[in-house]
Amino acid sequence: MNREVVIIGGGAAGLSAALMLTRARRSVLVVDGGEPRNKPAAHMHNYLSRDGQSPLDLLKHGRAEVEGYGGEIVNDTVRGVTKTDDGFAVELAGRTVTAKRLLFATGMVDEVPEILRPRWGRDVFGCPYCHGWEVRDQKLAVFGEEAKVALVRQWSADVTHVPSVDGIEVVDDRLVAVISGGERIAADALVYSAPVKPRDEFLLALGAETHETIAGPFVRTDDKGRTSVPGVYAAGNVTDPAAIVIVAAAQGAQAAGMINMDLVTAAG
Ligand SMILES: Cc1cc2nc3c(=O)[nH]c(=O)nc-3n(C[C@H](O)[C@H](O)[C@H](O)COP(=O)(O)OP(=O)(O)OC[C@H]3O[C@@H](n4cnc5c(N)ncnc54)[C@H](O)[C@@H]3O)c2cc1C
Repeated sequence: MNREVVIIGGGAAGLSAALMLTRARRSVLVVDGGEPRNKPAAHMHNYLSRDGQSPLDLLKHGRAEVEGYGGEIVNDTVRGVTKTDDGFAVELAGRTVTAKRLLFATGMVDEVPEILRPRWGRDVFGCPYCHGWEVRDQKLAVFGEEAKVALVRQWSADVTHVPSVDGIEVVDDRLVAVISGGERIAADALVYSAPVKPRDEFLLALGAETHETIAGPFVRTDDKGRTSVPGVYAAGNVTDPAAIVIVAAAQGAQAAGMINMDLVTAAG
């Protein structure tokens, strides 16, 4: 099966790219593993006109828009990507799809400790811009970087830094305390910047170059989403750890415009 573009990852970045490319009459396949980073959160904020919407609803609408223009979306996980003479081969469950251009929109993983995982995206979170308003003026604890305390004070004056977390206490499905060094610290929410890992193994295998970011080495792209490998593009959190949803979507659209122009130019 041949496609002009295969998009790996159907979060905000991948679907936004797919919308633009399908409307440009490109044959597009989106392969999506169904694990967007903000899946644990019930609400998504700071997306103009969609503030408070469920993250999964945004993607459901995005999928319908892409499919409305003839884009194909499959729920699958890409198992391998190789360079061919005239493009790329993408290995799915039981079949291989070829593509002239590839867009990686695979996102990144928050490496949240087991102990905090059940509350992640609820009252344990890393991004105060995403969750801070909902816990404004409440008792907040900051785990990890002490420098983050000053930022979190923008949302509440009652902020305590906890150097370690040995447990959390939940009453009536609400976080009430953080246990640190045997001490019980009252808290309505815990702010914790988990280490992150880009889902970039296929990009690296293709030879994409990285650069240093605030979150470690990430695949480098130019401002149009081009990686160092000809024909291979990246958008969203896989290349930019700071990209919130609206930024990831914008990066997907930027990359899509560039991919289309690249195909136009290649066709002569
Ligand atoms: C708890 C939490 C809450 C957040 N809340 C907000 C918020 O309120 N507002 C905001 O703007 N931002 C928020 N964010 C950030 C937001 O999650 C990211 O900005 C956004 O998910 C980035 O979109 P993306 O398309 O780059 O990646 P993702 O949304 O992570 O999508 C990547 C997709 O690629 C798929 N994929 C990965 N590898 C493969 C593969 N090999 N084959 C097929 N598919 C693959 C994944 O399954 C996933 O569906 C939050 C983050 C977290 C952790």
